[in-house]
Amino acid sequence: MSRYVDTHAHYADEAFEADRFELIRNLFDSGVICVIDPAVDLASSKKVVEISGAFDNYFCAAGIHPHEASAASGEDYEKLSGLIAEQLSGENCRIVAVGETGLDYHYNFSPREKQIDNFRRNIRLALRYGLPVIVHDREAHQDTLDVLLEEDAFRGKVLYHCFSGSAEYASVLLKYGCYFSFGGAVTFKNAKKFDSVLKTIPPEYILPETDSPYMAPEPVRGRRNDSTNLKYIYPKLAMMLGMEEPEFEELMIDNTSRFFGIRLNRQQG
Ligand SMILES: [Zn+2]
Repeated sequence: MSRYVDTHAHYADEAFEADRFELIRNLFDSGVICVIDPAVDLASSKKVVEISGAFDNYFCAAGIHPHEASAASGEDYEKLSGLIAEQLSGENCRIVAVGETGLDYHYNFSPREKQIDNFRRNIRLALRYGLPVIVHDREAHQDTLDVLLEEDAFRGKVLYHCFSGSAEYASVLLKYGCYFSFGGAVTFKNAKKFDSVLKTIPPEYILPETDSPYMAPEPVRGRRNDSTNLKYIYPKLAMMLGMEEPEFEELMIDNTSRFFGIRLNRQQG
C-alpha cells in the first residue's frame, strides 16, 4: 500500500466540524502516515495542538495567516509565543513549525502594512524558538523575499507552501536553502508551468501537501479536499520529477522528517 505524507492540511477548519476525528482516523487507515496541520490564528493554533495531541504522526504549526493579520492583537502574539514555549518544554510537543504566515496580495483581506508586520512577528517567533516557518506567498513574491531577507529568516528553515512562483524565483530561493511544497494545482489543466519549476528544484527540497479543505486536485476539484486525495497528487509529482512512485514516496517521508525534525513511524499514523 502507498504511504502518503501531507505537510499542509487544515483540519481545524470549520469545514471539518462535523466529522473531524472520524475523518482523521480514516486517513491513517488509508495510507496517510503523517499530517502537518498549520494554524491561521491564535484560536486555531490552540486547536491544532489539541487535535495533534490525539494522534501519533500528527503535528502542527502555530502562527497567524496574512488573512488574519488585521484581527491579531499584540496580546495574541504574546499568547502565541507562550503556547509555543509551553509546547517545546513539554513531554509531548506537537508544534513543529510556525505558520502559516506570509503575504497575500491577491485577496488583500488585511492591509499590506498589517500583513508585513504580522509576517515579521511570525518569523521572529520561528527564529526565537528554532522552528521552521511555513510561508504563504500569493502575488507578493518581491515583498515576501524582502521581508524574509530583512528578518534574516534563512538562518532558520523556510518552506514555501503551495509554491506558485517561476523557475527563476525558485532558483533565487534555493540559494537560501528554501524548501517548496506542492499540492492540487499540479493536477490542474494549466499545470504545465510546474514542469520547469520542478526541473529547477532538487527533489530533496520538495514536499507534498493538499491544503485541505481547499485546492482539491483533479478529478475531485471543487469539492472539500482531504489528505486521501494525495493519491491524485503523488503520481503527478512523481511523473514530473521522472521518479517511480515507491521511490518518490520514500523521498517524501525522508524530506518531511528532515525538514520538520521529526521521526516518523513509517508503518502507521
Ligand atoms: Zn494553508
